[in-house]
Amino acid sequence: MHPLTGAVDCDLHPDLPPVAALLPYLEGHWADAMVERGIESLETASYPPNVPLAARPDRRPLLGTGVAGLAGATLDAWGLSAGILNPLLGVHLVFNQDMAVALARALNEWIAREWLDRDARLRASIVVPLQSVPDAVEEIERRAADPRFVQVLVPAMWEVPYGRRSLWPVWEAAARHRLPVGIHAGSAYRHPPTSLGWPSYYAEDYAAQSLGFQSQVGSLITEGVFQQIPDLTVVLIESGVTWLPSYLWRLAKFWRGVRSEVPWLAESPAAVARRHIRLTTAPFDAPEDADTVGRLMDQLGSEEMLLFASDWPHWQWDGAAPPLPAGIPPALAAKLTRANPRSTYPRLAAEVPA
Ligand code: ZN
Repeated sequence: MHPLTGAVDCDLHPDLPPVAALLPYLEGHWADAMVERGIESLETASYPPNVPLAARPDRRPLLGTGVAGLAGATLDAWGLSAGILNPLLGVHLVFNQDMAVALARALNEWIAREWLDRDARLRASIVVPLQSVPDAVEEIERRAADPRFVQVLVPAMWEVPYGRRSLWPVWEAAARHRLPVGIHAGSAYRHPPTSLGWPSYYAEDYAAQSLGFQSQVGSLITEGVFQQIPDLTVVLIESGVTWLPSYLWRLAKFWRGVRSEVPWLAESPAAVARRHIRLTTAPFDAPEDADTVGRLMDQLGSEEMLLFASDWPHWQWDGAAPPLPAGIPPALAAKLTRANPRSTYPRLAAEVPA
């Protein structure tokens, strides 16, 4: 049996639509506006298509081949039972709130019609326009009626930290519909990706993403989001994994010293993280030997936190298959490919038998 048989892939990237493909899904005014303004593409978010990292050379011919290409290379090839689509269109880059709302709506409708309707194994994340919190909530309410949407998707770096109370209605709406909030690597570029200013090179930007994730984890935990919304799960997608234990150690150490300023945080940040935070395994930024991976798992202190993901078609692993991190023991591999995704995504578990 293939080691991924029955697995759930928690980070698949569909081809992104040119704006022309979204026109039928945009309301009249916005369809006209896109044409009049000559806006043809929003493919600028995290993976410019021509960057070598965006796809391995042998996968490049599959880009643009839609459901058939993606399903053949992942769901069929590995015998997966389901895969979650995370469309990285640059909706968060837009400053016009109404345009962002229109684009998010159109993108979610396009995903439902052009992808989910064509393969019953596919699920998707709801892209929300954080530019307008009431509209983001409304979009969650609208899409939640379709059980194939299993998560709310936001970029790792936004205008403000995600623990801020102004954003709580979005997280509350997600939890109300049993939708984890997926934070995917990427930025709205309201701020430099490093706290020092703008870096010069893509490698710096990519490596700095984990700093954004760290800050979001710290913000969500210390602001008390998980006390306010106890049913909320946050999935860090494409964050890497190995930075988390050392960050939680620091956060817990300083929390012990100054916890009087956050009296709602009555237990260690590490305990809150283990209960509420999950991470996908692509990229798995650890050495390949089993001893080191075993130590990492000890430091994480939980076998429930990791979720299998291939990050297809991005270039995160070499070789044909399986895209499972080396050094993961078989029992843990079985958990992170099958059991953990089902317990993290309750809407998916209800529809996809284990
Ligand atoms: Zn990804």
